[in-house]
Amino acid sequence: MHPRDVLFASVLSRILTPMPEQPVLEHFNLSEHGVRILDRTLANKTSSGRIIDVYFKPNKVLCEYCESTGCRHVKFALNIPGVQKILQKKGWKIKE
Ligand SMILES: [Zn+2]
Repeated sequence: MHPRDVLFASVLSRILTPMPEQPVLEHFNLSEHGVRILDRTLANKTSSGRIIDVYFKPNKVLCEYCESTGCRHVKFALNIPGVQKILQKKGWKIKE
């Protein structure tokens, strides 16, 4: 390879190197009423992920996207220390 081409190749590979891997699920927002989670597996053309609302109901934690109390969003939410603190304040016992 010509030295100029080597330089070009190294520049190109730098441009093409993907961003450091980001977590699939990310805690986005937290309140007394629920938590918002960014799910990057649900990305589409217009956004890099979808915001999922997980609600703290009086007797359960409910994911509005899956309409489930046991999906990965709920499990993820229950692992967030801030969520555990809120649920403890509500007097809940978090099941493992
Ligand atoms: Zn879910």
